[in-house]
Amino acid sequence: MPVNIPETGQERIVIVGGGFGGLMMARKLAKSDYQVILIDKRNYHQFQPLFYQVAMAGLEPSSISFPFRKAFQDHKNMYFRVGKVNAVDTGRKQLETDIGIVNYDHLVLSYGAKTNFFGNKAIEERAFTIKSTTQALNLRNTLLTDYEKAVIERDFEKRQWFLDIVIVGGGPTGVEVAGALAEMKKYILPKDYKELDAKEVDIYLLQGTDQLLMGMDPKHGDTAERYLKQRGVIVKKNTRVVDYDGEYVITADDEKIKAGKLIWAAGVTCHRMEGLREDAFNKRNRIMVDEYSKVKGYDDIYALGDVACMETEDFPDGHPQVAQPAIQQGKQLARNFIRRAKGKDWVKFEYRDLGTMATVGRNKAVAEIGGMKFKGFFAWLVWLFVHLYALIGAKNKLIVFINWIWNYFTYDQSLRLIINPKDQADRNPPS
Ligand SMILES: Cc1cc2nc3c(=O)[nH]c(=O)nc-3n(C[C@H](O)[C@H](O)[C@H](O)COP(=O)(O)OP(=O)(O)OC[C@H]3O[C@@H](n4cnc5c(N)ncnc54)[C@H](O)[C@@H]3O)c2cc1C
Repeated sequence: MPVNIPETGQERIVIVGGGFGGLMMARKLAKSDYQVILIDKRNYHQFQPLFYQVAMAGLEPSSISFPFRKAFQDHKNMYFRVGKVNAVDTGRKQLETDIGIVNYDHLVLSYGAKTNFFGNKAIEERAFTIKSTTQALNLRNTLLTDYEKAVIERDFEKRQWFLDIVIVGGGPTGVEVAGALAEMKKYILPKDYKELDAKEVDIYLLQGTDQLLMGMDPKHGDTAERYLKQRGVIVKKNTRVVDYDGEYVITADDEKIKAGKLIWAAGVTCHRMEGLREDAFNKRNRIMVDEYSKVKGYDDIYALGDVACMETEDFPDGHPQVAQPAIQQGKQLARNFIRRAKGKDWVKFEYRDLGTMATVGRNKAVAEIGGMKFKGFFAWLVWLFVHLYALIGAKNKLIVFINWIWNYFTYDQSLRLIINPKDQADRNPPS
């Protein structure tokens, strides 16, 4: 059954996924003559770089989310539908979704990436991830519930299970989570949970290679490591995690670390959309596109952002799976469709690398922007400014800014509420 969308006789562009890439593209096409349909399995855009602050009770999820319908309010050619796209029928030019069939003239796939567990089912089943708002909230609830349990637990070993945390993956996400947890241990635990000895909380950051923040200057990896160690995080490099039974994290060297929480931040992969040719995907399940974002083997299908792999001289394995390539590709593809409507030739995509950065709690960050490399307080200020600027929605920017100022001066986040959407299973150490 076709989804109820008006047939207006306009050419229809269907965008799957309203992340950085899809939403930017849709917004840029807002005043064009195309009929633009955005389909997303959620009804809001998520600002993923700040998920970890939701998980650490520093921000409310609503302040880093933006409802799609609000973005589409004033544009009569734009339509939004909540739906999960399951497959594409390229012959019929149709999408199969959980709300019905959607026809397209041009299809844009921007459905992002998912957590990569490298086939390890035991870890997938038990690890915490922060790849969605729901997962971030789940981690927040678990952290706070476990602190409550630890307060009443007399047995030291059991208390350790509630308190100790292992983070796997020393990229920006792992480093930021470790820094935020270390701050919670230092500033929040002694105030909120004064019966607990904060020294009992062990925070581990395990990295498979010999450097944190791979992709950045090794000196910045070392700086981040030093910052984390100063804050009491136990950093272990060249340490690959192979198993987790819910009680012990087991490494390739057979080391066993007792922890009731394993946070997995060790990489992403992509979902293979059913119906596309096998050779449209590369080994990492990214969709191969040319420099116009057109999918290999198709004239009417495009891909952008994390899910797309555009091999260029500077980026032979595709662009990094971060926000900027998605944003820039989304805008460029929209511009090209506008050029098409005017009978003009398309312009090739060229990536402008705006830099990378990572923060390690208050006052400390590392940044590499436009050939400049800096660290410490200034890098941290730049990190704050860049993230505020990139957030979608003026109200969100204001609320996040106020939260950050409040937290900075009071050393206290005020959102430590345990709000479960439904009763969750009681968590206890395996006996
Ligand atoms: C915790 C975390 C921290 C990060 N920090 C940074 C950072 O500091 N800086 C940075 O540059 N990047 C960061 N990133 C990466 C960045 O968020 C991504 O590169 C970026 O979001 C990619 O944009 P996208 O449009 O390709 O996909 P996404 O933003 O992932 O959007 C994909 C959209 O598709 C929707 N979707 C997925 N499957 C379907 C389906 N089958 N049907 C319908 N809809 C679907 C999803 O709901 C989502 O809205 C971070 C990512 C994470 C997870």
